[in-house]
Amino acid sequence: MEKQNRRDFFKTAAIIGTAITGLPTKSAKAAAKNVLSEDRMGVLVDTTACIGCRNCEWACKKAHNLPTEPIEKYSDRSVFKRMRRPDVSALTVVNEYKNPQDANLPINVKVQCMHCDHPACVSACIVGAFSKNENGAVTWDTKKCIGCRYCMVACPFQVPSFEYGKAINPEIKKCDFCYERTKAGKLPACVEICPVEALTYGSRTDLIKIARERIKRNPDKYVNYIYGEYEVGGTSWLYIAGEEYKKLAFPKLGDKPAPGVSESIQHGIFAYFVPPASLYALLGGLMWITKRKENGEAE
Ligand code: SF4
Ligand code: SF4
Ligand code: SF4
Repeated sequence: MEKQNRRDFFKTAAIIGTAITGLPTKSAKAAAKNVLSEDRMGVLVDTTACIGCRNCEWACKKAHNLPTEPIEKYSDRSVFKRMRRPDVSALTVVNEYKNPQDANLPINVKVQCMHCDHPACVSACIVGAFSKNENGAVTWDTKKCIGCRYCMVACPFQVPSFEYGKAINPEIKKCDFCYERTKAGKLPACVEICPVEALTYGSRTDLIKIARERIKRNPDKYVNYIYGEYEVGGTSWLYIAGEEYKKLAFPKLGDKPAPGVSESIQHGIFAYFVPPASLYALLGGLMWITKRKENGEAE
């Protein structure tokens, strides 16, 4: 039975995207909330403090009603033998890298959505299901989502994942910056549980000051760079590290917002107005193909 995976989807999306951009019509735009508040919040991840306990993974799953394996498993460090990415079963994961200064002290890096200041997922989403909120969180509305998965194509950090294995109403999944918790005045679950304060929640402006201060006070401990301060126009999650970022699998990205793919998708559809009926017929076709394959697989 043929399985549609991420790669198959990208191929289909590219073909449909090309078909759409060829349509000679005028512009319209899906409404998406895209606020860049001066007071937006963020998290500073100090990778030199992280001990790879993976409590954050567990707390994140618990806060989002995802199945948590027995807690004992979280002390099993063999999980670090392979690089992991956030997916539908874990909105954040911690990876481990060799430390050239000290072989007994590996470097652990927590990965999740970066909550970009200019999110490519927001501009790619043709139905405005993604939003950049005042508090910095990039969230999405499953009720609006039509499952086109352009957000997955657009994200420069390859974060959104899709419930390929779910036959009925599969959804996009990613870290939502604990939007409901923070709205209620709580800390993000991962920040709250971190036993060594490797994660600091605060206003992005303050976090940059804290990061600069730490680097200034400990020039031998940190590389003189805050990852996320400028990447793709800046992100709400920021990192400091004692090792070059490229060695810790951080993608090298320019400082320009990453609308590239996302805007070409968005413009392909909206800069040349596709009558809604045609657009939805096209997207309906994509979803039908996807669901048919998924249903076939489930059967
Ligand atoms: S990391 Fe990806 S999913 Fe998260 S806000 Fe940025 S573009 Fe969107
Ligand atoms: S902010 Fe919330 S959703 Fe995001 S990684 Fe932390 S616990 Fe998970
Ligand atoms: S809870 Fe803190 S120390 Fe533990 S893995 Fe997560 S970020 Fe690192």
